[in-house]
Amino acid sequence: MSDRLSGIFGKLRGKGKLTDADIDATAREIRLALLEADVALPVVKAFIHTLKERARGSAVSEALNPAQQVIKIVHEELIAILGGEGRRLQFAKTAPTVIMLAGLQGAGKTTLAGKLARWLKAQGHQPMLVAADLQRPNAVNQLQVLGGRAGVEVYAPSPGNGVGDPIQVARDSIEHAKRQARDIVIVDTAGRLGIDQEMMAQAAGIRDAVDPDEVIFVIDAMVGQDAVRTAEAFRDGVGITGVVLSKLDGDARGGAALSVRHVTGQPILFASTGEKLEDFDVFHPDRMASRILG
Ligand code: GDP
Repeated sequence: MSDRLSGIFGKLRGKGKLTDADIDATAREIRLALLEADVALPVVKAFIHTLKERARGSAVSEALNPAQQVIKIVHEELIAILGGEGRRLQFAKTAPTVIMLAGLQGAGKTTLAGKLARWLKAQGHQPMLVAADLQRPNAVNQLQVLGGRAGVEVYAPSPGNGVGDPIQVARDSIEHAKRQARDIVIVDTAGRLGIDQEMMAQAAGIRDAVDPDEVIFVIDAMVGQDAVRTAEAFRDGVGITGVVLSKLDGDARGGAALSVRHVTGQPILFASTGEKLEDFDVFHPDRMASRILG
């Protein structure tokens, strides 16, 4: 645990019982720790409210001293908000399962597409990648390189199959996947640097064309306070069923994880931790809770 938190909890050590003043003082420190981790203010407020209620209502435990008791509550609440045991990918009853990726430009969608394809292939699936990001000049090529590394087919626009129309490419890719007996289709989509109506309309069009089993919202863990606004826009514009946090190899404390969970109510499925295809893991709420607390 961080020096800050050991300091806070050190003050509680040796006390026989949690007083309201102890709870308030601890809540203040936790609030600062969350704000430093770039958790959005409304999310911090909601968390502190729950924390205080629980701490006040908790019976004085025989086995734990007050410090341990507060630590336990903070950790349990963070893990609960971050998704408890976590959730796995949802697969379609009838193949192919369609996974659509959405998020701002630079969030890490294309990289994630390659990682997911590699990971699913290693589990015995027959995934296919779809290059429906026709906005960023190099995105199709980037996906082809990643697909090559993962040993996974990339369906990309070519003369005759909807050059320039990502919705058509996405629609056609599903038919192609069926013919090729692929059991999972991962659709990469275009983002912009900021939220924009045209991008949202295109993402919604792709969603309607492919009828996805998962719409995964990819967000850069470094974005901090902007996470709430971005997540709200994708929640309302496209609909989200799961989240991936990218760039967790950076030094961001990852407060965006809490904010996005709060806004979308959807589980964080994976963590992206580098530029290489293998820098990828299922999301561990317990590790994230410790990271956010610093
Ligand atoms: P997209 O615009 O959402 O498709 O984003 P990209 O997948 O192209 O990623 C944008 C940049 O971030 C690229 O230079 C990637 O190599 C890099 N990137 C993606 N994911 C990660 C990650 O988890 N960690 C780090 N360090 N870089 C990443």
